[in-house]
Amino acid sequence: MQQPSGVSPHPRDSGTAATARLAGDSSALLPPEGAPAGRGAVPPLTDRLLRSWLRCHRRAWLDRHGPAEARRWNAHRALTLQDQLHSFQSLLPTRPGHGEAACRAGSEGVVGLRLRGAGPGGMRLEAHPPLLLRIDSPSRWGAHAYQPVLVRQGRHLTREHRLVLALWGRLLAAEQGAPVPQAVVLAGAGSQLQQEVLKLGSGLQQQLEEVLPRIAQELEVGRQPPPLVNDRKKCTLCCWRSLCDREASAEGHLSEVSGIGGKRRDLLVSLGVTSLDQLANADPQALASALEDHGEQHRDVAAELVAQARVQASGEPRRRAPGDPLPELAAAPGVLLYDIESDPDARDDFLHGLLRLERRENGWPDASGAAQAPYHPLLALQEHGEERLWQRLSGLLERYPDWPLLHYGETEAISLLRLAERQGATEAERARLRRRLIDVHQRLKRHWLLPVNSYGLKAVATWLGFRWSQRGVDGARCLLWWRQWRQDRHRAGVPPRRAAQPLKRIFRYNRDDSLATWEVARWLLEAPEPASPSAATGSHRWRHEELRP
Ligand code: SF4
Repeated sequence: MQQPSGVSPHPRDSGTAATARLAGDSSALLPPEGAPAGRGAVPPLTDRLLRSWLRCHRRAWLDRHGPAEARRWNAHRALTLQDQLHSFQSLLPTRPGHGEAACRAGSEGVVGLRLRGAGPGGMRLEAHPPLLLRIDSPSRWGAHAYQPVLVRQGRHLTREHRLVLALWGRLLAAEQGAPVPQAVVLAGAGSQLQQEVLKLGSGLQQQLEEVLPRIAQELEVGRQPPPLVNDRKKCTLCCWRSLCDREASAEGHLSEVSGIGGKRRDLLVSLGVTSLDQLANADPQALASALEDHGEQHRDVAAELVAQARVQASGEPRRRAPGDPLPELAAAPGVLLYDIESDPDARDDFLHGLLRLERRENGWPDASGAAQAPYHPLLALQEHGEERLWQRLSGLLERYPDWPLLHYGETEAISLLRLAERQGATEAERARLRRRLIDVHQRLKRHWLLPVNSYGLKAVATWLGFRWSQRGVDGARCLLWWRQWRQDRHRAGVPPRRAAQPLKRIFRYNRDDSLATWEVARWLLEAPEPASPSAATGSHRWRHEELRP
């Protein structure tokens, strides 16, 4: 399955002693006293720091001063670099030259040119544009000059893209002794390659003049690290996430409450509710009234947020709705656990994995019984066509017509029903399929509140004690393996066993996700009724008048 966003490690997860010491104590992040602070010792402000700062001020601070051992490798970055390479290869059929010698020689494309220069107040600047493209315009290198090229991630050009290009343009102009009036922005690759031109006007340079001194000031030695970013969805792609997750957990940051994003946190802080504990102690009705001014949708979720915060503060799960969360399993002879791996950018569901779990005379298999269940990985190779996938998938489903199809999250149901429709399944067949599909995530949320900061599969199953057999794997890592396998499987000189390794890892990860889904389903089947409703009606120390308007 795709990596759920905003999933943070459970507080029970252990870290190294060193990083655990850092959690919750920002002063521990400060560089040692006596670190060089003289002007000559200040390292240059780079394009990478600018990019980090525009995403999250704390990230730039950590890039400069953070403990190197807490930085984590991130599969998203590897995917971004891969996409960038494919875009460049689509733009330039020939191999680019390297460094200043290539600029002098007039190579059509140049990589590896490090640019250095001065910024506002004489601060040192440094940048490393990934590609420069030759244009016909005089420069100190002759009748040609260069302009920077950036590969855009996401649908739109953002402030981050613009300011990074402005910095590249500024330093490149000084380096080549000729202005850089525009830059090239790419997206996609191959026949999907899109190109646009961005004018690097004076407005952008003015913004850069304002931003650079602020960054330099925040990064000065001895400054406290900036607070965690407001919208912690941004942390999903950050290499400092583990460190910040631990700090958020230790300080009871409001973003730790499942359901609170950046905007809601701002609202709560403006009302004087600044931590998980304060939210847990708030009066739901008073909070609802205070939030009503900001929109009905906020008022409607007030009680929900308080209840979730209380469950997280207490560490005890709480049942929110009576009844059997999975009645379809009462008489089922077995279940199929279903999980898809996909490449969201390519809209390609490349693996449909099914785990076949048969009910035994003495009941449903436990975790070790489930681990022995047959696993069916159905690869969806685009060159084989969707029809072949549908034949295999529908054939397998028809062999077990009374077995419910359990999945976690809505992705699998949406993808399967769309596939069935594209492949000509009748309305009645799709209705039958729809009745078989059971979203365990939805049933869990409908019936239970759990002491977890996210209801994503990773957080919930980890809280239940489940462990994935491969550490640190997520949807992005899986996608990297997929691309590696597609690249290597027919490549000369790659031994077949080695070429098959990434696929084996994907299967193992996909199977683990199904086992984790079963762990959650099994808990739903066995979870007792709550001992007392105290968590729902705990004392309210916060009153309406205490919530600042
Ligand atoms: S993990 Fe989040 S808060 Fe921490 S540096 Fe990265 S983006 Fe900022």
